[in-house]
Amino acid sequence: MSESLPAVRHLLEPTGDDLRRWLLERSLPGFRYAQIRHWIFAGRAKSFDDMTDLPKSLREALAADFRLWTTRVAEHKHSDDGTEKLLVELADGQQIECVLLRDGARRTICISTQVGCAMGCVFCASGLNGVERNLTAGEIVEQMLLLDRLLPADERLSHIVVMGMGEPLANVDRLLPALAEATSPTGLGISARRITISTVGLPPAIDRLARENCRFNLAVSLHAPDDALRNELVRVNKSIGLGEILRSADRYFEASGRRLTFEYVLLGGLNDQVDHARRLTALLGGRSALVNLIPYNPVAGLPYRTPSAAAVNRFVEVLRAAGVNVQIRERKGDKIDAACGQLRRANLLSSNSTAGPAVHQVAPSGL
Ligand code: SAH
Repeated sequence: MSESLPAVRHLLEPTGDDLRRWLLERSLPGFRYAQIRHWIFAGRAKSFDDMTDLPKSLREALAADFRLWTTRVAEHKHSDDGTEKLLVELADGQQIECVLLRDGARRTICISTQVGCAMGCVFCASGLNGVERNLTAGEIVEQMLLLDRLLPADERLSHIVVMGMGEPLANVDRLLPALAEATSPTGLGISARRITISTVGLPPAIDRLARENCRFNLAVSLHAPDDALRNELVRVNKSIGLGEILRSADRYFEASGRRLTFEYVLLGGLNDQVDHARRLTALLGGRSALVNLIPYNPVAGLPYRTPSAAAVNRFVEVLRAAGVNVQIRERKGDKIDAACGQLRRANLLSSNSTAGPAVHQVAPSGL
């Protein structure tokens, strides 16, 4: 994976606190820092010129040394159900996706943490070409702010799900500072209880999260009731295993007191049978967790199928009969390819092109 990052001084980059040092170097008063932050987060400034209570000279100096935005919105799609999706081009030309979902009073965003993914889930569009690079913390924050600026003045973002492209816990060093901006009262002010990190299950990183910041909701993608099947579906599992993953998830639960979510993508005929449901119930062994079932969102060119409605119902019944909390993930934004990975893939294909366009379902609800 290439680690070369965009050569720009990004005002939204939270690590290092570049802006505070820049102000100090110029002997500018400390309150300017708070003012600028206010414009970025609460004021929804789109440019330095929007920061109207800063002296013009300061605005010009900022514009000379910093960039507020490092990305360009390459595509913006709206769906009838209120879902909006952005295909975002990064400074180095790479593309990622992020989504705004409207559900009642909820305004949920789904954000990406990497360009591509290295976890090797065989059914997922995001990882088909491996991982290109980690996003910077600033690029993660930038997605939040781009989506926030789609809302009318009287609406605020309420929830964040880290379920876009990439494996969040493989980029935890950038994710945590970005989420700190999301939760900060002088940032977006979103409670950590309304933020969910979805992971393929990387035990050392889950343990680190439990030690450093366990206020977030954790969703662990299982997709299989045993290692033999999971090794086939989620390639990285070969070097980890379900036992280790569940033990680290339990430690996170102990540290956080937050109910765990286990995600399970239902792949027609592959992992959606009654026997799989029974073994999943046994695997979860009475944990007070929520199982989030995700009917597969087909990826063109891949051999996996959406499960039949009857199979989904049977699967749910087995889990419910055993007292497991189950939720079926509702699909939103289908018409605009809101499932993550699809737009980027379609774009990659139009520029080079062997495989068919692909989809990667992310739209969560009720997590
Ligand atoms: N790397 C993280 C985030 C992935 S996206 C993780 O593994 O959890 C969030 C969820 O969508 C994951 O459970 C992922 O396996 C699932 N997913 C990926 N592609 C999908 C598809 N085509 N249809 C349905 N769910 C998919």
